[in-house]
Amino acid sequence: MNLVFIGAPGSGKGTQAKRLIESFGFIQLSTGDLLRNSIAKGEPLGMEAKKFMNNGALVPDGILVSLVSHFLDSLKPGQSVIYDGFPRTVNQALELGKMLESKKQGIDRVIYFNVDFSVLTARLTGRRTCSKCGEIYHVVTKPSKVDSVCDKCGGALTQRPDDKEEVISKRLSEYSANTAPTIDYYRSSGKFLEINAEADVGVVEKSILKFLNLDNNR
Ligand code: AMP
Repeated sequence: MNLVFIGAPGSGKGTQAKRLIESFGFIQLSTGDLLRNSIAKGEPLGMEAKKFMNNGALVPDGILVSLVSHFLDSLKPGQSVIYDGFPRTVNQALELGKMLESKKQGIDRVIYFNVDFSVLTARLTGRRTCSKCGEIYHVVTKPSKVDSVCDKCGGALTQRPDDKEEVISKRLSEYSANTAPTIDYYRSSGKFLEINAEADVGVVEKSILKFLNLDNNR
């Protein structure tokens, strides 16, 4: 199954993706994570992308399409994938459609995480991520037991450079300009679910499982 998660930064896509991975063996393609890994390794692609990311801008489509194309080539047949944070532009959506078609696949479901912008800023400024295992925390709503230390693996919790308040407004305006039209592109597809992602994490998860017909499998 190919599942697209679409929504503004901080709308909870990554949190829900982790739950589906743990319970149902999905693989996650987070283009944000791939780009951050590439930066951490000091790769030329990462260095190019960093200039855009640290300003809250979208990385050019060409870089993203090449990353995703390599990812698709590395997949074993039959693996279920969550596309988290890709596509973010209508052009990326068209390119993903073509890449999947060339592998005789398509997008099976699209889930739109709808959250008001006022809620997003509070979520993003308080977000902390484990530098070792990627577990996501929030200083107010999901603090770690020991300050700045991951409960799961003991790794250091860090704030993403683009989760600073001055960068967030730029990320949200990029979202309105580019990603909102991508949502409209998928909306009429008949395999689209809009969820109120301001609801509790467990409630959001339930609607996702119901939509995917996975609610009887756990
Ligand atoms: P994320 O972790 O998904 O919030 O992504 C962090 C940053 O990576 C974004 O603000 C963009 O600069 C860049 N990025 C991630 N995915 C994409 C994409 N599909 N298209 C363009 N830029 C992206």
